[in-house]
Amino acid sequence: MLTKVIEQAKIDRFARWMGHAERIVIVAHVAPDGDAIGSSLGLWHFLNSQDKTVNVIVPNAFPDFLRWMPGSKDVLLYDHYKEFADKLISEAEIICCLDFNALSRIDAMADAVKAAKGKKILIDHHLYPEEFCDITISHPNISSTSELVFRLICRMGYFNEITKAGAECIYTGMMTDTGGFTYNSNNREIISELLSKGIDKDDIYRKVYNTYSESRLRLMGYVLSQMKVYPDYHAALISLTRNEQGRFDYIRGDSEGFVNIPLSIKDVVFSCFLREDTEKPMIKVSLRSVGTFPCNQLAAEFFNGGGHLNASGGEFYGTIDEAKKVLERALEKFKPLLNAKG
Ligand code: 5GP
Ligand code: MN
Repeated sequence: MLTKVIEQAKIDRFARWMGHAERIVIVAHVAPDGDAIGSSLGLWHFLNSQDKTVNVIVPNAFPDFLRWMPGSKDVLLYDHYKEFADKLISEAEIICCLDFNALSRIDAMADAVKAAKGKKILIDHHLYPEEFCDITISHPNISSTSELVFRLICRMGYFNEITKAGAECIYTGMMTDTGGFTYNSNNREIISELLSKGIDKDDIYRKVYNTYSESRLRLMGYVLSQMKVYPDYHAALISLTRNEQGRFDYIRGDSEGFVNIPLSIKDVVFSCFLREDTEKPMIKVSLRSVGTFPCNQLAAEFFNGGGHLNASGGEFYGTIDEAKKVLERALEKFKPLLNAKG
């Protein structure tokens, strides 16, 4: 038996909405990752099985390594099909907001979703959700939104309706938000339920993690060769300028996962990745930690961001060198926590 996480009243309310609705839209955050796409498509497959007209809409493109996912070709990109997407959003009876906690995380779609008349449900695992939905299912202690989608479907009594394709999507979201089940991943029960749907976990792992281009691997080698380690702070920094991206034929998603690599150094508990954005004049900041170091606090205090204890991010407006200086100030401030055992 699955332990109960989501409040019963919220499940019952969503089930009632679903019973009456025909048109449902699912939206997920900008620069969608495995969990954003996995949870959206997991829910999409299920709602399709209930004969609903369902559309997944995301603000912009997602990485190539997620394109094998069943249903991914039907995901609508808002920056390409704004008019059509606006119409779907305004006509939807239910809007499911997945894997984000604030309207600002859906970028240009925020206005349309905010103005939409449909009932809104948030299903998410980021801290401090904004109150913009009628039902807010927010569980920061759960490792992925995909897991919450699985829990919601099962608790409504539809485990049998989850198809192999739906299970593949949910599994992928759980896998990518836990670094391939290497952290926050004490959910054996759910994994075995998903496996019972006939999914091939080894094949999914290969499709997500082992289908990169040669230039991506060379980029990784380059980035790591430039890595700076701060032994006194148990920290490491990697970075990527726009110019360097150009030299390695960088495409979106190529640096996915880089930020985790420095954590494989013994005694490094905190890793920072600074990447010049290709579209906006800013530096995207990605932070990861192991153990108790709160990278979300550092993100909030120094990089206008937030996130989870062990995985957070933010933005910096300035040059990479300026961002590095800010990071070094942050390391000094957080030195006691970086040196704490645990
Ligand atoms: P990533 O490093 O994979 O881009 O982001 C990791 C996590 O950090 C995300 O799941 C999200 O919780 C948080 N995060 C990333 N960027 C931002 C940001 O700009 N603002 C806030 N508040 N959180 C972010
Ligand atoms: Mn997520």
